[in-house]
Amino acid sequence: MLKVPLLPPALAWLPHYHLRVSTRARYSQLRIHPDYGLEVILPKKASQKVIPRLLEEHVEWINRHREVILKAYERSATPAERPTRLGLTALSVEYPIHYQTPSSLKSRPKAALLGDTLWIYADPDNERSYTKALLNFLHYQAKIHLEPWLKRLSEEHALPYRSLQIRSQHRRWGSCSHRGDISLNDKLLFLPPNLVNHVLIHELCHTRHLNHSKHFWALVKRLDPAYHASRCALSRAEAFLPDWCRTKRSFYLE
Ligand SMILES: [Zn+2]
Repeated sequence: MLKVPLLPPALAWLPHYHLRVSTRARYSQLRIHPDYGLEVILPKKASQKVIPRLLEEHVEWINRHREVILKAYERSATPAERPTRLGLTALSVEYPIHYQTPSSLKSRPKAALLGDTLWIYADPDNERSYTKALLNFLHYQAKIHLEPWLKRLSEEHALPYRSLQIRSQHRRWGSCSHRGDISLNDKLLFLPPNLVNHVLIHELCHTRHLNHSKHFWALVKRLDPAYHASRCALSRAEAFLPDWCRTKRSFYLE
C-alpha cells in the first residue's frame, strides 16, 4: 500500500491506490481491483515517477468509478473477524480454534490438532499470519481425505486416473488433464459431501471424455443422478467458504 503522492486535485477523494509491479505487464495501467480499489500496474522496468501522470491522464475514468473504488477500498480496510471455529463440512467435523502466540513472532505460523481443538501457533493479531496457518491445515487435511475419496469413486465406477494433485487455487474447484492427472482444490472441504462427490465425479468422467459434450454429461448423469441440482448448487458454492478465505470471484469447474 502506498500513499498517493502529488494527487491531482480532482482525485482528492481517493483514499489510496494499490501498486502492483508486474513482470508480465507491458504498459503502465490502471484497473479496479475487487479487494483494493484502484490498482496501478507497472511493468517491472517502469519508474514509479510515471504514476502521477498516469493518474492525471485517467482522472475522468477514475472519477466515473468512484463508488466502486470506494466500496472495494472499504472492504479491504475492514479486517475479517478472527475465526473461533473451523468447520470442514465435507468431513462433518468442526474444531474450536485456540490461538497461541509463538515465543518468537518470526517463527512460521503453524497449526496442530490436539484432541478436538485446533491450535494455531501464529500472531493472533496478524490476519495474514493466522490465515496462513489455517490454510496449511486445510491443505494437509485435503491431502489426507480427498485422495482416498477420489480413489474409492474411481474404483467404484471403473474410471482410472493417473495422478492427483491437491492445490489451493483461487477460482477452480478441479480439473483433469488429457493424461488423466486430476487437480482438486483444498477448499472443497468447506462444501457439503454431495457437492464434493459431484466435483470428483465430474473430473473422473473427464478421464473418458475430455470435453463437455453430451456424451460427457450423459456419463455424469448416470453416475450422479442428482447432478443437475449439484451443478446449480456448485455455482453458488463460494458461499460455503468462511470469511477468512472467501474470494471475491466465482469458482468454476474444468
Ligand atoms: Zn469439466
